[in-house]
Amino acid sequence: MMFRKANSFKVINNLTINKSSPVSLVHFLTNRCNARCSFCFIDFNDPKTFKGELTIEEINSLTKNMHDTLLNVNFTGGEPFARKDILEIAKCYIDNTTIQSIYITTNGSLPERALNFVKKVNEYNADIELNLQISIDALGEQHDKIRKIKGLFDKAVETYKLINSLSIANINSSVNITVTHENYENVDQIYDELKNTHGVKNLKCILVRDEGIYQTPDKLKKDLLNSYNNLVLKINSDQNKKDNKNFNKNSIQGKIHRAKDKISYKLVKEMYLENSYLSPCHASSLFGVIGASGDVFPCEILEDKKIGNLRDYNMNFKELWKDDLNKKTKKWILESKCRCTYECGLSFNIIGNYRYYPRLFLEFLK
Ligand code: SF4
Ligand code: SF4
Repeated sequence: MMFRKANSFKVINNLTINKSSPVSLVHFLTNRCNARCSFCFIDFNDPKTFKGELTIEEINSLTKNMHDTLLNVNFTGGEPFARKDILEIAKCYIDNTTIQSIYITTNGSLPERALNFVKKVNEYNADIELNLQISIDALGEQHDKIRKIKGLFDKAVETYKLINSLSIANINSSVNITVTHENYENVDQIYDELKNTHGVKNLKCILVRDEGIYQTPDKLKKDLLNSYNNLVLKINSDQNKKDNKNFNKNSIQGKIHRAKDKISYKLVKEMYLENSYLSPCHASSLFGVIGASGDVFPCEILEDKKIGNLRDYNMNFKELWKDDLNKKTKKWILESKCRCTYECGLSFNIIGNYRYYPRLFLEFLK
């Protein structure tokens, strides 16, 4: 069976033809975070930011009302491990939906909680693929300074090592470097030291997005892109030498993610400065975002295109997704040729578009 619980025919039909229901969702479990990064899109000064987090009962209901094409959920935040019931949330998704993988974006400040979580999920269901993406943007105290947590760098490296020391094929952790105006001049050095001094081999990178209250200064964008490109060259070279093992190299999904990442790096390079339009975006169809208090959006960027709040749909995700407003949003995204370098979005735009299949196939075979 190609997909764990999902109907393979439906999934493939949805990805290639219908494009009507999500194969992946980003779920912001909370807006709470113990860090305070200068480039964070969360407005921590707004008291409304922390209000009305979905309860575990609500998450249980919402996961019971999801499409049977869903393959992946990405827990993010805030800091997802700030939610002490994260294991229960994962169980809701595992029991009630057709997911086969959970990705978690974390600042890595809570190694024991992260380790306990992956072990418990694995005991609960060993088929679920778990991938922790730990954010590190600088070395040592500089990282602590940017994210405003003392000792964070060491904790993040510890989290990476603890997870990978389990040596379970379905469980992986990687470090994600976000190239920002604060680190673009020395990301090369950060990469090398992480790899050679701290033993962090699984490394990825993204370009910081203009989102929420964060804007990259225009005059720095060219330099940021150059630094990003150099980093991508290093990552690709290490992946080709099998030094860098992002994702599970033995699973179909892991291999697809690796292949798609390589194409995504190229697309970001082509789009970032000129804001060029390359292909349609399938936000509001193949993927979407659930906010901490139940607001649903097409993606993380279109904050003004809220589709609705799950509480107004009795926590029925399917009902909300088929609402006219979502149809209109989907139409607007296609007709306006909406474009951006949001990696999650690019992932599903690559997987849901025939023109990328030959490249995807070639990368898949490597
Ligand atoms: S760790 Fe993430 S969520 Fe927390 S402040 Fe930094 S960017 Fe924001
Ligand atoms: S192109 Fe970007 S901003 Fe537009 S809908 Fe897609 S992910 Fe969102």
